[in-house]
Amino acid sequence: MVSNGLSQSNRNPTDFLREEYEALVDQELDWRLRTLQGPSTTRCIVDGKEVLMLCSNNYLGLSTHPKLKDAAIKSIKKYGVGSGSVRSIAGNMDLHIELEERLAKFKNAEASLMYTSGFTANSGLIPQLVGKEDIIISDELNHGSIIDGVRLSVAERAIYKHRDVADLEKVLNEAENHDPPYRRILIITDGVFSMDGDIAPLDEIVEEAEKHGAMVYVDDAHGEAVLGDGGRGIVSHFHLDHTRVHVEMGTFSKAFGVIGGHISGSRDLINFAYNKSRTWLLTASHPPPVVAACIAAIDVLEKEPQHVKTLWDNTNYFKKGLLDLGFNIGNSETPIMPVIIGENAVAKEFSQKLYDEGVFALPIIFPMVPKGYARIRTIMNSALTEQDLDDALSAFEKVGKELQVI
Ligand SMILES: *Cc1c(COP(=O)(O)O)cnc(C)c1O
Repeated sequence: MVSNGLSQSNRNPTDFLREEYEALVDQELDWRLRTLQGPSTTRCIVDGKEVLMLCSNNYLGLSTHPKLKDAAIKSIKKYGVGSGSVRSIAGNMDLHIELEERLAKFKNAEASLMYTSGFTANSGLIPQLVGKEDIIISDELNHGSIIDGVRLSVAERAIYKHRDVADLEKVLNEAENHDPPYRRILIITDGVFSMDGDIAPLDEIVEEAEKHGAMVYVDDAHGEAVLGDGGRGIVSHFHLDHTRVHVEMGTFSKAFGVIGGHISGSRDLINFAYNKSRTWLLTASHPPPVVAACIAAIDVLEKEPQHVKTLWDNTNYFKKGLLDLGFNIGNSETPIMPVIIGENAVAKEFSQKLYDEGVFALPIIFPMVPKGYARIRTIMNSALTEQDLDDALSAFEKVGKELQVI
């Protein structure tokens, strides 16, 4: 009856779109988007209600900093709102070069390169660094953009247990005995892990890598403007440099308050990366206001060190408050603090009740985290006041008792 190979010719070829979406809704795994009405500030309006923001990545409040806003507006007046092209043809503005030079200096690197986003930095660069005679070794909890970058590569893959250097050593030893020998070994890890707020033991990873002649690639999206001297990130935090951590990748979309991915390292790395990454070569460069705001963000970090300090003061205050109330915050070592709840349904109810109490913090549930470890992920912000933190802790206490989490 049907000649096109479909068993049910009366089916619309796009029926699966609705069916798969409805399956997600049935399992309560669909994303129901909340709407921010106005700027991303610590007291903000979400779905018509004023709440305390505890889940943005805008750690230092830079997305509304007057210097960033001014820089963006001035650049629009001077340059317009678009760059007109990809960097490699006609879209390479002096602003892009200035930003990369400023970032390299900030990161103590020979050179830096800006990508459209952190996601496209990982997905565009990783598959170029290794080929079919090579192996990539990843921490099992690395970010999804790293996973996609690894999947786009034709190299062999291995994982090591989360932050487990002894297991990494085991995997490296196996890789070393591979026949024929691998041409290159690439170790990739998140710097700060976004679901747990724990820190990769980058110093020990580097030591292992050096024993085996491996490259080291760290994704510091959540460590920048948080860890290290003046917020210079995880490489600075561990007193390492780019002769030992070969690729330091990051993003302007989190603590820097704007958008755009970046890598820092040797001049050789940068020359290689922009000539080879298709996510760099075949996509337009960032518009002037984005680039100017990123430059201003680096300025602010260099000239206003108080923001990073306040972020940590708030982190320590809130962490102590949560622990005193009896919450489990896992292995958090950073301003990302997961409040472990347990079952998906309870975590969702917890988040809804927090919202009703005027606190905005979203649940992170299975399958994003292991079963039984559903959580409310809180992220600290330097702009939160002590009163804000006390209000947030009161809400956590009230809901925690109501739902018998504490
Ligand atoms: C957010 C994040 C990214 C993606 O960065 P964008 O610039 O937002 O695309 C990559 N890696 C990690 C670890 C992240 O947390």
